[in-house]
Amino acid sequence: MPRTLVTGGAGFIGSHLCEYLLDQGHSVVAMDNLLTGDPANIERLIGRDFVFVKHDVTNYIALEGDLDYIFHFASPASPIDYLKLPIQTLKVGSLGTHNVLGVAKAKKARILLASTSEVYGDPLVHPQREDYWGNVNPIGPRGVYDEAKRFSEAMVMAYHRFHGVETRIVRIFNTYGPRMRVEDGRAIPAFMSQALKNEDVTVFGDGTQTRSLCFASDLVEGIYRLMLSDTSDPVNIGNPQELTILDLAKKVIAATGSRSRIVERPLPEDDPKIRQPDITRARKILGWEPKVGLDEGLIPTIAYFRSKLGIT
Ligand code: UDP
Repeated sequence: MPRTLVTGGAGFIGSHLCEYLLDQGHSVVAMDNLLTGDPANIERLIGRDFVFVKHDVTNYIALEGDLDYIFHFASPASPIDYLKLPIQTLKVGSLGTHNVLGVAKAKKARILLASTSEVYGDPLVHPQREDYWGNVNPIGPRGVYDEAKRFSEAMVMAYHRFHGVETRIVRIFNTYGPRMRVEDGRAIPAFMSQALKNEDVTVFGDGTQTRSLCFASDLVEGIYRLMLSDTSDPVNIGNPQELTILDLAKKVIAATGSRSRIVERPLPEDDPKIRQPDITRARKILGWEPKVGLDEGLIPTIAYFRSKLGIT
């Protein structure tokens, strides 16, 4: 039975990944400092072959026993989180990634880094392919996340090339589903909680910026396939179904049966204008593509936010 470490295991994607790995027969260690993670996300896993270790990976990681796989998902990941936690975001992407790579090397474990479409910044190429180097403002407010992840990728490739560590890099595009934090400030949680409370739905800018949204279960399956593949090159995982943020707001209002109005708010600095993954590589190498369309994925997500907000 493989033994697997998931850093950021109490987070939105991390907790879905822990559950998926348990279902695949892994023994799972989840590590999280609970800065943006939530113990409620992993409650249901207690009693299975699962241990939780509360630890900040920016500090030295002492973990007993063998490890076969490491999924490195620890990081604040929503724009308001990394605006509030800029130093922690930079530290977890740099010192944290270095420590986790050290564990991978010592245990001879294969490591997969959770990278991001943010490495492409405000992209000048559309859709984004893995060979695009990106358009990132290093000193802007999003730079703390984008550059931390770019540094992480560089560090992972250095451990791969210099130390021969088996590495994988997934570039995750916008993902949604149950267990997103109500207050994380991202479009889906914000629109859903506003719509369910019949409050104004806040579209930033004129809402013509685009995103492409992937349901959590599709993402996790793509990530698992990537871990088991033999490519150390980065692979985009996301759903190419692209829409404007204004259309997303309308969709959420319709799907929740809300009376909310849409209001415009200032566009945050360096907010990418367009984003859509080119998933040719994932299709070819992993035989993967997303199965859950937006209309379908919104249903369980709305049910989750309803219960979190206590709205029946
Ligand atoms: N957005 C919005 N209203 C909100 C939250 C977000 O219009 O209340 C916009 C945001 O400006 C961005 C898009 O929705 O253009 C997606 O934002 P999110 O924070 O979900 O993630 P991002 O893709 O920017 O990392």
